[in-house]
Amino acid sequence: MTTQTAKLQRRTVSRGPARGLLIAEARGAAGAESVAARIEKVAATASAHAAAVDREARFPIEAMAAARAERLLGIGVPREFDGEGAGIADLADICYALGRVCASTALIYAMHQTKVACIARHGRASAWHQSLLRRICSEQMLLASSTTEGERGGDIRNSAAAVERHGDRISLERNATVISYGEAADGIVTTARRSAEAANADQVLVVLLKQDYRLERQIAWDALGMRGTCSAGFKLIASAAAEQIVPARYEEIHARTMMPVAHLLWSSAWTGIAAAAVDRARAFVRRAMQRADGALPPAAAHLTRANASLQTLRALVASALRRFETAAEDAAILESVDFQTAMNLHKVNASELAVATVMDAMQTCGLSGYRNDSEFSVGRHLRDILSSPVMISNDRVLANLLVPSLLNGAPASLRD
Ligand SMILES: Cc1cc2nc3c(=O)[nH]c(=O)nc-3n(C[C@H](O)[C@H](O)[C@H](O)COP(=O)(O)OP(=O)(O)OC[C@H]3O[C@@H](n4cnc5c(N)ncnc54)[C@H](O)[C@@H]3O)c2cc1C
Repeated sequence: MTTQTAKLQRRTVSRGPARGLLIAEARGAAGAESVAARIEKVAATASAHAAAVDREARFPIEAMAAARAERLLGIGVPREFDGEGAGIADLADICYALGRVCASTALIYAMHQTKVACIARHGRASAWHQSLLRRICSEQMLLASSTTEGERGGDIRNSAAAVERHGDRISLERNATVISYGEAADGIVTTARRSAEAANADQVLVVLLKQDYRLERQIAWDALGMRGTCSAGFKLIASAAAEQIVPARYEEIHARTMMPVAHLLWSSAWTGIAAAAVDRARAFVRRAMQRADGALPPAAAHLTRANASLQTLRALVASALRRFETAAEDAAILESVDFQTAMNLHKVNASELAVATVMDAMQTCGLSGYRNDSEFSVGRHLRDILSSPVMISNDRVLANLLVPSLLNGAPASLRD
């Protein structure tokens, strides 16, 4: 073995606890060590079952049980409602850590935390939602999301089904084409038209608990990747208390929280998948060098490229997280055209970079990466990451951004 190869062998792949987790400690949520240790335990369980979850297209029961045991489902709930007040960067780090081992677990976690953030930021004036936030912590409830409806695809700012009011009760019947882990969740957070008379874009967000609805399965989930999300299609038939409607307008919830938080947490999960693929590519090159007495394999340049795009991806996510943190709860910033464009474009850019990174990782490994039965296989990573441009189609996002693209010229300074 050459000195260079020996040095490479000694270096560890993991670089210790993430900075985002130290932020949790600074806030006094829990010791950084203990938060990191809790995440590590969940990640270890998710990793052990990831292949079976993918193969059997089943819900990651073990990983979610571990997340509950480590009390990670309520970590994003504000302290005043018994949570740990973890911020967006902390949650992003958890999605990233889970994405490195089991993409489905990471995406489920990201979707759940997005719903929690919507309730925490827009439902805090309502006693019902305050009590739910407490229950999310004490019972470690898992929330699913229903925005996709009928044949409308990712057109989430329009709903067909309407909430019907009957005194202090409501009912809703919805053709929910995709609800990830719908059957495993303790509740579903859904968009709907405000009333039968309301326009399609006049929406509300309703939180339904398991006892409030019945799911009739319409479409199975046998997909290329993200198989453990169990994103089947259902007819959702619900009857609930009227106070379960989140008091804010959905337009506001969507702009300030739902869209940015979803895009930030999804992209963190995708970055985890990309990082895991690059780890495999790196291990492949090291092994090849070891066997060839230090000589680089022919496709080693792809590793450099994969590393470069992973670095860009990480920087992109980190910068978008900072932008969201800086905006805090400033409605004017959050609803500005600039912010909305940036957060929507973030989804497109992050998904494209993540796919490119995993592709480069696969090309680094060649046939060993392409095979499903090799320790350097990146087949699952590739299948999982290919969901990212589809999950709210990049084409749809880009088409919706045409108007601001036409209006806004490039800023005068690089730092604007
Ligand atoms: C892994 C995964 C999990 C999901 N989980 C959930 C969930 O829990 N809850 C939920 O509600 N939804 C979920 N979804 C659905 C998701 O939110 C989107 O609704 C869905 O991915 C869009 O599906 P679509 O491609 O059929 O629809 P569309 O958005 O209609 O896209 C169909 C095609 O039309 C093209 N297209 C669409 N609009 C335009 C346009 N304006 N200009 C140009 N081309 C356009 C697109 O390129 C695409 O090829 C999930 C999706 C995935 C992949």
